[in-house]
Amino acid sequence: NENRVHKKIVILGSTGSIGTQTLEIVDTCPENFQVVGLACGGSQLDIFVSQIHKYRPKIVAISDSRKIQMLRDMLQDLDYDCQIGVGERGLVDCASFPESDLVVTGIVGCAGLIPTVAAIKAGKDICLANKETLIAGGPVIAPLVEKHRVHILPADSEHSAIFQCLQGVPGGALSKLILTASGGAFRDTPLEQLPYVTLKDALKHPNWNMGAKITIDSATLMNKGLEVIEAHFLFGTAYDNIQVVVHPQSIIHSMIELCDTSVIAQMGWPDMRLPLLYAMSWPCRLPLPFPSLDLVKVGTLSFKEPDRNKYPCLDLAYGAGKRGGTMPAVLNAANEEAVYRFRNEEISYLEISKVIEYVMDRHENGLFIEQPSLEDILDADQWARKTAREFSPQLPFVMKH
Ligand code: NAD
Ligand code: MG
Repeated sequence: NENRVHKKIVILGSTGSIGTQTLEIVDTCPENFQVVGLACGGSQLDIFVSQIHKYRPKIVAISDSRKIQMLRDMLQDLDYDCQIGVGERGLVDCASFPESDLVVTGIVGCAGLIPTVAAIKAGKDICLANKETLIAGGPVIAPLVEKHRVHILPADSEHSAIFQCLQGVPGGALSKLILTASGGAFRDTPLEQLPYVTLKDALKHPNWNMGAKITIDSATLMNKGLEVIEAHFLFGTAYDNIQVVVHPQSIIHSMIELCDTSVIAQMGWPDMRLPLLYAMSWPCRLPLPFPSLDLVKVGTLSFKEPDRNKYPCLDLAYGAGKRGGTMPAVLNAANEEAVYRFRNEEISYLEISKVIEYVMDRHENGLFIEQPSLEDILDADQWARKTAREFSPQLPFVMKH
């Protein structure tokens, strides 16, 4: 089993939460994985440079062209040949690097779309963490995956759980997906308090330690909304057969229901290295020296219906998913921009969903395209970002520090 896993990997977004946890797996299983490429945005060059020294990749890239000279200077004493790239071209070269078998997409946001498409076209399997790419690009990625006969291996914990539950399930037997949600930072905050919550409050996730953008998406439940669309594209399940339940302990990572009403769940401690490892080593299983799940210590597993009034982003995402075409790309871009504006303290927490609704309404009455090309999706993404920046805050704005 484990002797069969020898993969050369490229990590896009190596300095982030997903990227560094992927490298921890490489440290734990060095005989199974070799890092041949690394890429990031460019904001944490010191970490990036130390990764390059440690893993000795053959190709590296950063997206921020203003930092390239600094990177070259920092890499002057590198004692082996390494190709250094920059911008979209650099990321694409990394993603399609001929020697790699698998590309781990740990970039945050739709910035991952073009490199991911390039990786698929180069015949690489994808270990997919970067959900925004699949949500926006679903209509073009699905046919590309088919054409190039690559595998999209989900690293998001819910989708990994579903993927694991599905192993051995005969085609046609799946009837429903049940995605679990922790409930995010505000799961115990009453609706009346939400106008007053701050950025700092939204950045406190009860169960997972992740990048800032996804932590805010968890607080609004947009993360779960995005994951509903991600599940639709990964498993081909109709939206009416994808259910979300709040499960505060985050021990059951998701479930599937089969045609005979049998339900299969996947469990584990909330640790992203587990779904990442499965996506990286599939179809094998590698031994890991991690603590066993202790259900007696967990004690209780509880479930409840998500409160649709408290979490309007969830229904916005179902709406965008069902509408299809360019709408998921618009939902995603409007959300990225709204979260950016919230992190800049330009809008309040409750206005995140208002921005998205505003942009989706305008798209419906404007440039909506049912069967978009990659160009159409990129245009819709840019249009939605611009429109989200036009939204002016309406609620009386009080940020408590
Ligand atoms: P993060 O903010 O910690 O890291 C983001 C990484 O992407 C960094 O390396 C950054 O340099 C790079 N990056 C940012 N903009 C870029 C650009 N334009 N071009 C190239 N690289 C760029 O984010 P994260 O939490 O690791 O999340 C990464 C992705 O994984 C997101 O799509 C997120 O939804 C998904 N995900 C994360 C977790 C988690 O536990 N962190 C869980 C499930 C899914
Ligand atoms: Mg998830």
